[in-house]
Amino acid sequence: MTEKLIIIGSGPAGLTAAIYAARANLEPFLFEGFQTGGIPGGQLMITTMIENFPGFPSGITGPELMANMREQAQKHGTRMIVDDVLDADLDVRPFTLLSANGETYRADSLIIASGATARRLPLDSEIRLWGRGISACATCDGSLPVFRNRELAVIGGGDTAIEEALHLTQFASKVYLIHRRNELRATSVMQKRAKNHAKIEILWNKVVEEFAGDNILSGLTLRDTVSGETSFLPVAGAFEAIGHVPNTSFLKGVLKVNSMGYIVTKPGSTATSLDGIFAAGDVQDHRYRQAVTAAATGCMAAKDAEIWLRDQGFDG
Ligand code: NDP
Repeated sequence: MTEKLIIIGSGPAGLTAAIYAARANLEPFLFEGFQTGGIPGGQLMITTMIENFPGFPSGITGPELMANMREQAQKHGTRMIVDDVLDADLDVRPFTLLSANGETYRADSLIIASGATARRLPLDSEIRLWGRGISACATCDGSLPVFRNRELAVIGGGDTAIEEALHLTQFASKVYLIHRRNELRATSVMQKRAKNHAKIEILWNKVVEEFAGDNILSGLTLRDTVSGETSFLPVAGAFEAIGHVPNTSFLKGVLKVNSMGYIVTKPGSTATSLDGIFAAGDVQDHRYRQAVTAAATGCMAAKDAEIWLRDQGFDG
């Protein structure tokens, strides 16, 4: 059986695409994912309170928001499977997907919304205290009461790290930017902003050796990469900003990607380098990475797919 549309991914992009596609009678079939690239529901499943998603003035937790989107997609007729796409043959249509469970699926069109995975520090203490003072998203978590008027740390030296640090200065009494080298990777304008900000102090040549705290983060053990000396930095929050990796391994390099591995879409559209394949959410966006922008591109992808299918003579 060939599906009209298969959506890969169950974050805000994939589920919004599913809601729109189902309502356009495209009878979408959606891969929720299983373990490749994170848990079903995407990165919001590991976020606490979301206070900037429109429509929820009192905030909503990430898992609750994703449960609502999932229910809405199902209510409109989306069929879903908890499975990963391991391999894809995109050279001929219908496109063929091979799942981790060994099943083969075929589709006339695809929406890839498989997201990106935040790089994490490979420390046991990081896993233990994740969500208890450690986060990968200052925009999502930075304004929580536990971080207000406290000293916080951001780990990383790229544009994201600086954006996160600048964002946190609104709430924190002080923000330490912890970078493993003596030179930032970020663009010069962002570097200047960080260096000139009264609340930001850059700690050069430092790596986190351990996150301290019993049930909640109390500080960081840092190691100087030049001298080898260790020191303790008491902070109430640590925000990792050490880059993301787009979840595209199953594509085996067939679609055009940029230098960082993100799928390239045509400007103003979600069309990829292959006809009939559309991309939405963080897998094609290294810049905004917000639930609302992911949802918006999911909507665009469903509409692009609908028009493309109609132009090919497939009835919606
Ligand atoms: P980047 O890959 O640019 O930076 C990641 C940073 O994390 C680097 O400083 C890197 O150190 C550090 N890092 C990586 N791994 C580790 C580790 N294991 N331990 C400690 N530090 C580590 O990622 P970004 O998310 O910052 O940016 C991605 C892209 O998005 C960039 O092109 C950026 O310009 C763009 N962007 C643009 C924005 C804007 O225009 N406003 C905003 C945000 C992002 P090192 O430098 O030593 O490699």
